[in-house]
Amino acid sequence: MARIVMKFGGTSVADLDRIKNVARHVKREVDAGHEVAVVVSAMSGKTNELVGWVQNMPKVVGANSPFYDAREYDAVVASGEQVTAGLLAIALQAMDINARSWQGWQISIRTDNAHGAARIQEIDGADIVKRMGEGQVAVIAGFQGIGPDNRIATLGRGGSDTSAVAVAAAVKADRCDIYTDVDGVYTTDPRIVPQARRLKKIAFEEMLEMASLGAKVLQVRSVELAMVHKVRTFVRSSFEDPDAPGMGDFLNPPGTLICDEDEIVEQEVVTGIAYAKDEAQISLRRLADRPGVSAAIFGPLAESHINVDMIVQNISEDGSKTDMTFTVPSGDVDKAIKVLGDNKEKIGYDVVQNESGLVKVSVIGIGMRSHAGVAATAFKALADKGINIKAITTSEIKISILIDGPYAELAVRTLHSCYGLDKN
Ligand code: ASP
Ligand code: MG
Repeated sequence: MARIVMKFGGTSVADLDRIKNVARHVKREVDAGHEVAVVVSAMSGKTNELVGWVQNMPKVVGANSPFYDAREYDAVVASGEQVTAGLLAIALQAMDINARSWQGWQISIRTDNAHGAARIQEIDGADIVKRMGEGQVAVIAGFQGIGPDNRIATLGRGGSDTSAVAVAAAVKADRCDIYTDVDGVYTTDPRIVPQARRLKKIAFEEMLEMASLGAKVLQVRSVELAMVHKVRTFVRSSFEDPDAPGMGDFLNPPGTLICDEDEIVEQEVVTGIAYAKDEAQISLRRLADRPGVSAAIFGPLAESHINVDMIVQNISEDGSKTDMTFTVPSGDVDKAIKVLGDNKEKIGYDVVQNESGLVKVSVIGIGMRSHAGVAATAFKALADKGINIKAITTSEIKISILIDGPYAELAVRTLHSCYGLDKN
């Protein structure tokens, strides 16, 4: 007997039939004798609809901010998960399973005060653990908790993944199963590379990179939490027959296990290729080469909540002027150019140039820590296809390459095959 947290995303609970199907997955684990807590998302599309409603309400008259009261936003958008939790509890009861729904505040899942993008601070798991021990399934509304102001807080889009991992850590679950509409984590996006392979295992750190780079299987924050608390997390599909052979296999369920790197015996050098679209490059030309320029550039950008990614500073020829290039999401270019313009005097540059529609492709793998030549392989493969590289950044386990948008798919396919990731 083990303790399992099962999380079902929006497409898995999209309608009543799918909710009944989810109940069968839960029943399988209950029948196997496990203690089970379930975390649910809102039915797919629901949160978007709720967010839309909030956005279409009138704003406070005279307020100089275009925003609404984030606490009321949370009150509205948290409702989607409440509905699914109740419906799933009903479906389980109809199958003769002892189950009840829980909202964030009832457990309680304590968050900070950042309404709309709150972080979980503490979960009191005692009550649900006690009841799970008595055979009751806890069906928990994901995406929500309660803030220090005693009001409902939501965790940011995709946050029910984080709810699930946090609950798993709090109740010391043996496993956290994230059920979704894909059957695992792939070496790259299978829509671009049909030869992409499903990974049996991926290390937390690698998954963190994949998730940050737009492999939208999991909310980034959930992977961070899983890594910190060492929660063994499975990504698996809810669309498979709940009673198909192997579905209840405790040690080896179908899907991808996100785990500690020590658990991965046959570590490949490269685990996956990820990409992020809609990047833009901004260059400041003939910048004064003196202490404080970087702070003068990136300080104001940060204050304007512009997320800067790759940063490349050229070595200046004569020690007086240099160039600085960095990337931001395409949607932030205009804002960034304005901020840089407002600070032109303070920064001290000649001209600012920008280019949108770029793509960042990244090669990810823990194995590259101990292997030389991984980057050279990528550069050679891209060169052979005539793909021009605009910027490069590296970390211990990642090489990111900025290229022109139209080359994205070719680059992903090229990198995927040059590291031998294609399935044969
Ligand atoms: N329902 C929320 C959203 O759509 C949370 C989640 O599904 O993870 O963002
Ligand atoms: Mg999701």
